[in-house]
Amino acid sequence: MRQIGLAGIIILIISVIVSGATYLGESSFIWNPGDPGFIYSLILTLGFLVAVGAGIYGAIKEMNEFLIAAGTACIALALVNKLFSNVLYSWSYLDIFFLVAGFMMILDSFHVKRIKEAKKLEETKPEEPQTDKLLEKLDKLESETEPTETETTEEGEIFHVKRQLWSEARKKPELLKGLRDRLYGSAIVQDIVRRFINSNLESIEPIMVRSETPSYPVLSDLKGYSQRKIQYTLDELVESGILNEDLYEKLVACPQCHQSAKVFTRSKCPECESHKVKINRLMQHLDCGAIYKQSEYQTVTGIICPKCRKRIEEDLELKSVGISFECQSCNSIFSEPLRSYYCRGCSDEFQLKNCDLVDIHSFTLNQDVKYEAKEKLTVLTIADSLRKIQYSVDIPGYLKGKTGVNHGFTLTANKKDKLVALDLVASSETVDTKTVLSSYAKFTDSISATSLLIAMPMLHQEARDFLKENNIQFIEGENMYEITDKVIKLLEETN
Ligand SMILES: [Zn+2]
Ligand SMILES: [Zn+2]
Ligand SMILES: [Zn+2]
Repeated sequence: MRQIGLAGIIILIISVIVSGATYLGESSFIWNPGDPGFIYSLILTLGFLVAVGAGIYGAIKEMNEFLIAAGTACIALALVNKLFSNVLYSWSYLDIFFLVAGFMMILDSFHVKRIKEAKKLEETKPEEPQTDKLLEKLDKLESETEPTETETTEEGEIFHVKRQLWSEARKKPELLKGLRDRLYGSAIVQDIVRRFINSNLESIEPIMVRSETPSYPVLSDLKGYSQRKIQYTLDELVESGILNEDLYEKLVACPQCHQSAKVFTRSKCPECESHKVKINRLMQHLDCGAIYKQSEYQTVTGIICPKCRKRIEEDLELKSVGISFECQSCNSIFSEPLRSYYCRGCSDEFQLKNCDLVDIHSFTLNQDVKYEAKEKLTVLTIADSLRKIQYSVDIPGYLKGKTGVNHGFTLTANKKDKLVALDLVASSETVDTKTVLSSYAKFTDSISATSLLIAMPMLHQEARDFLKENNIQFIEGENMYEITDKVIKLLEETN
């Protein structure tokens, strides 16, 4: 509803009523269709009433066209009345109110128009992609694609969906965490992150060998993945915040085919542009001060100064005083050759100023997620081993306690009638009693399951005593493989 427009209409209505009442008060109303003055006044009155109707409609429905029409009609009628006041019944001083009412309606109509345009702009904005829909789509695409098949056409679509999700995740920390958990589940990610955690890998550094994408020597034993897949995974790990990237180098790439591996520098003669440019080292014979090219000292009988003919026994007798370039085509000598780049891929020759610069990165583990990564990978390693001995595993897992409460555990596993509930707690130093208390409460409520607490890297003595007193089984450790071995051994013993 437009309030200014409506106020204009109310002013108009009041003015019409007041003028009508004044008219009726002065002279009684006589129906006189034969009098042209009567007819014109009647038309004028009806015109005002139509303007009132259109104005109300425009103000309520927020339609600027109706507000403009009503406002313009109102102003026009007031002017007509003033101009022909000799023929018409005069509305006297009320004219000014008609004008004000008309202007208010027109002014308000401009405001309505602006609001409408803003709304339209809002609507034409690309719709925010819906996270849930995207995740659903990703699930579908990933279940359709073989995990080792990397060059499929779906890969492109997965890539696209993931792009959207990563960009949304920048605003949604929950989504980022969810996507990170997803990543930890992928075999190649586990393989890469494990190197940082178990093998104390510091950084993944690139080298460029005959291809568009850099390769990484420390990942050279990652078998079954294309270079593209590895690069893509590293980029995703950076998006997720698991890895950090640092600019390692900027490579000159061909402006035509955008490859950097096939680009070579070329030196040319500034006189004739020939590529046959030779480099000369100039050496001074310290004894006599003569300066000759290094090659000119060489003779069949040894190193001899061309000027004083003295034999040079030691390197120290010659001093390097600079270099010069020589063109083997036109024999000109110059201090700086012309430099250009040549792409052997597409035979394009270009100058540095026209080249493409390609960034290549090295990667390090983000220390903020180190513990999280360690925990996740440990849980996944345990789950893998449990599956190998025919357990079905849920991460996280839920069990209903005898109190009826549904408890969440790091992992639950079951095989036939055997049920396991496992909680993993980690700390940068020792895990204290407070941390193990919530697991203790869940374990004592879920008596139907074999319960097991894993503490990384170790328990505080007090917490250890507490668990022993209450007969809660626990495993301490830092290495995910050792922990997994202990878990399996313990479960086999309780069999
Ligand atoms: Zn090229
Ligand atoms: Zn000499
Ligand atoms: Zn030349």
